[in-house]
Amino acid sequence: MMNRSPLASFDVSPILKDKVGICILGSTGSIGQSTLEVIRNNKERFFVRSLSAHSNQKLLKKQADEFNPATVALVQGPVAQNFTCKVIQGRDALIDLVQDAEVDIVVASIVGFAGLPPVLAALRAGKRVALANKESVVCGSHLIRQALEANSKASLIPVDSEHSALFQILQGENRASVRRLWLTASGGPFRLTPLEKFEDIRPEDALKHPNWDMGAKITIDSATMMNKALELIEACFLFGVSEKDVEIVVHPQSIIHSLVEFIDGGQLAQLSVPDMKGPIAYALGYPDARLKQVMPQLDLKSLVSLEFSPVDTSRFPADLLARECIRAGVSHCCAFNAANEAAVSAFLAGKITFRGIVKVVSSVIESWQNSGFPDLEELFLIDREARNRTEEEISANF
Ligand code: MG
Repeated sequence: MMNRSPLASFDVSPILKDKVGICILGSTGSIGQSTLEVIRNNKERFFVRSLSAHSNQKLLKKQADEFNPATVALVQGPVAQNFTCKVIQGRDALIDLVQDAEVDIVVASIVGFAGLPPVLAALRAGKRVALANKESVVCGSHLIRQALEANSKASLIPVDSEHSALFQILQGENRASVRRLWLTASGGPFRLTPLEKFEDIRPEDALKHPNWDMGAKITIDSATMMNKALELIEACFLFGVSEKDVEIVVHPQSIIHSLVEFIDGGQLAQLSVPDMKGPIAYALGYPDARLKQVMPQLDLKSLVSLEFSPVDTSRFPADLLARECIRAGVSHCCAFNAANEAAVSAFLAGKITFRGIVKVVSSVIESWQNSGFPDLEELFLIDREARNRTEEEISANF
């Protein structure tokens, strides 16, 4: 297994510079803010070249005042004021940011399908991409592969905690020795909630994650376990494996971030406190030494227990849907993601129930037609079409 991985070489060369230039796409979000904290503690290694935000101008200004980037980009909102650096606006501004010659690493932490175009542009420009935007891999894995193959300087390092764990574990391992990958899942806030109570779940209940402090979209995805489903698709692409080679196990403490099972029967796990600064710092520092002052040390002596259980797919069927999509092809994966993004928005807006999220995504996927390997423009059409069908499902059934 693992013969088609775009990370296959695992031999990314170090960036030979006194200071490494960082561009953060989505700097005002959770991952963006954590990235700035890592840089704040490692100023001798990194400098912030550019930042982008969707519309949170106030926080972007504060970040710009502290880190002095050359350029910031605002995707939406009124004309930016009071910045001492260059300000560019609109969605195309992100493409300009990632192509800048002074940028060595692009931290891709925009949420959703919208993150794909700048990720592709960064890879085409030969950048190292620290990838926190799982939706871009889920929708455009074939385009990401092409972009990586087209520019030998381009590289991709996973930032999603599970995929970072797998990446860390696999360092120096012979791929022929790998038997299976195990993704751990916290199970979310409704891990123990009986199915009949699912109808009562409100957005404010689903927005409370037991272990991780994250944005709204990913927190809802964790509650439905759609997040793990998207991560399953992400893992298959990143590590070049089929869905049969990836298992999901519920591990409520979120201490073990994932495991690799080898052909000799042994397994290796990666552990830390649940803190995204760990995977972010690993991606920024790779392949050199790990960075200092990243997150609190895990105190094994104070751990009460580490529990594991299988996923109850009767309550959380997202995993099965993702496996169907992987087998069906990339257009299904893109439609799956779009339908989920639209369904999550509808749930947060009070238009559908919690169980409705997976239900509408499932109906959209069931009738979806495979369209081969769409280019970026065609992917946008698939994304739009899947969102429209999700809206139709919602108005017909809720
Ligand atoms: Mg994750």
